[in-house]
Amino acid sequence: MLDDLQIIDMVERIKACVLQGQSDALERVRAEFDKAGNQPPQFYKQKLLSVLFDIEDEHPAGRRKLRDLVCRLEQPPEELLDANAVSEEPAIYPARLQAENPWEKHPQWKRRDELRQTLAQFGASGEAQSPLIRRFQALENPRAIYDAARKELPSLSGLRVYRFLLKAGLPSIVPDQPRRTLLDRLNLVLQQESHNAWPERFFAASARLSHLSSEPFCALNYLLGVFSGAVIQRDFTPICTRRPRCHLCPVQQYCAYFRFHRADASTREGSKLLQIKASERPRERLMNQGAQALSDAEVLAILLRSGTRKLSVLELAQHVLDRFGSLARIEQAPIEEISQVPGIGPAKAAELKAAFEAGKRILREQAATPEMDQSFKIFAYCRSRLALEEQEQFCILLLNTKNRLIREIVATRGTLENSLVHPREAFKEAIRSAASAIVFVHNHPSGDPSPSREDIQLTERLVQSGKLLGIRVLDHIIVAGNNYYSFADRELL
Ligand code: SF4
Repeated sequence: MLDDLQIIDMVERIKACVLQGQSDALERVRAEFDKAGNQPPQFYKQKLLSVLFDIEDEHPAGRRKLRDLVCRLEQPPEELLDANAVSEEPAIYPARLQAENPWEKHPQWKRRDELRQTLAQFGASGEAQSPLIRRFQALENPRAIYDAARKELPSLSGLRVYRFLLKAGLPSIVPDQPRRTLLDRLNLVLQQESHNAWPERFFAASARLSHLSSEPFCALNYLLGVFSGAVIQRDFTPICTRRPRCHLCPVQQYCAYFRFHRADASTREGSKLLQIKASERPRERLMNQGAQALSDAEVLAILLRSGTRKLSVLELAQHVLDRFGSLARIEQAPIEEISQVPGIGPAKAAELKAAFEAGKRILREQAATPEMDQSFKIFAYCRSRLALEEQEQFCILLLNTKNRLIREIVATRGTLENSLVHPREAFKEAIRSAASAIVFVHNHPSGDPSPSREDIQLTERLVQSGKLLGIRVLDHIIVAGNNYYSFADRELL
């Protein structure tokens, strides 16, 4: 299976690909706005959503997006859609339509009127609605709601039950054939899964995709639908159809189908490795289960890349290991000795040496980096740079399991707002760097380190996101001159 970072990257690429296909979308919005003249902000919001994203505004997720846009549409539409915005078209979606993650909580279940409307659309009579709502609200597990919906509403057969759940705001992507094929090719669900196991697979995959990418379910469903051809979109020719256009696909590197079809079975290496089950090949195992799941021979096989006329790369790697005894001994051996092994020339020996050297340097670097386990150490580290800054800066310190610094990122400069430090952006870097803990630091040029209401709210959101992703938020420090405020010291995390 794909790891978290790969999933985030994959969804973002699909989104960018779909948005680029809508090359004239903003022009169309602009034309609509020009035609409309002076209208209330609500009008522009509805137009923007319907033209760009085909998302219904009565849907709960659509409403959240609208609410988000309300805040941004204080300015007149000319300013919103200026010439620069057109040239930066792909950025408009992530920047303006970030919605809360519906998986965290299901506020939509608390809205009886919306649920009533949805139930009515799907054939529930007036008297049947109240007991159904009570029943649904008592259930927590999406699979249980799925079963209850099917049982209680005979009209919800086949894919309609997924459309109902989606409309009601529950985690789901409609598993029609095009979307199933796409998710199967990307190794997120398995086609051959039994019929009964499908709902779980889909709920789990939907929730994971949505949770990691911060995309609401309706937007994900739409993106995957457009990309796979389940949704016909005027400006976009689908990519991953029955005859996939892989040469245009932005997610090739995550696609099992692409890897399999691109494998050159005519080469000796190809034919030898193809004799091994796809899921057991070293590279596939690394991608699906992580590097730590590999044996020493498999790690070595990936570094060696190809075998010989007689030996597959795995056999060659095992042969090298047997000859030297362990990875540590290979690392100590001189390059001439390694290159004497049949099948390992000077080039491969040099590559092995370089890989070992990279590992040693990483260890040296880690030993030299400061430990960030207490607020005064974090303050000492950041003070010289942030204390005299005249503008607000929001920094993220990524830490390893020993709380040592891996990397430091300046997330924003200038006026600090909640919306400028979105948890997705903060944690994306943490996942990319395989950080196991994270510290947030920002400065108050005013000289007063007391946290504002926004600082407290932002900290709460970041801590919640960290819990969901399994990344510890160690502290949020506010630096102001020679003073600082630590949320951890005050036990506010
Ligand atoms: S690489 Fe090809 S098969 Fe794989 S997701 Fe992309 S278009 Fe589909």
